[in-house]
Amino acid sequence: MASRWTVLIFCEGFGAFLATLNSGFASITMDNRYADLVKAAEEAMKNSYSPYSKIRVGAALLTKDGRVFTGCNVENASYGLSMCAERVAVFKAVSEGFRDFQAIAVASDSVNPSPCGACRQVLSEFSPDMDVIYGGKVHKLRELLPDGFRLGRWKWPLRSRK
Ligand SMILES: [Zn+2]
Repeated sequence: MASRWTVLIFCEGFGAFLATLNSGFASITMDNRYADLVKAAEEAMKNSYSPYSKIRVGAALLTKDGRVFTGCNVENASYGLSMCAERVAVFKAVSEGFRDFQAIAVASDSVNPSPCGACRQVLSEFSPDMDVIYGGKVHKLRELLPDGFRLGRWKWPLRSRK
């Protein structure tokens, strides 16, 4: 019985080791439960409208009840009007009545698709404890945005004006 456990533990460790090799990062183990979500983000990236930056990004947002909403970055000649893939996915989900998110995967074929601060804040509005997957690693949103903005957290004024 003891030897079976040893074999099982060895196999799981070896699987994690192989996943580390595949990810291309030294100390990272990719979580297989999000493999399909990463694929969906990569597929969504193909719809990217990015003629100015040439940076294609795709996102796939997983709701807690198992639905997936995808998004891609959509740029505009008036640069400030451009929108990130993550927020496209979030707004699609929210507009369909879904606000509880388990995870979001972000993919790009040219940059490390670490979500920008604006997207972290928008995700945090709905699910601050969700997972964020990019670069072959699963991150906790709370670690990516440890002190996101919330209304009503502080009493005004914070300190005397004198
Ligand atoms: Zn963003």
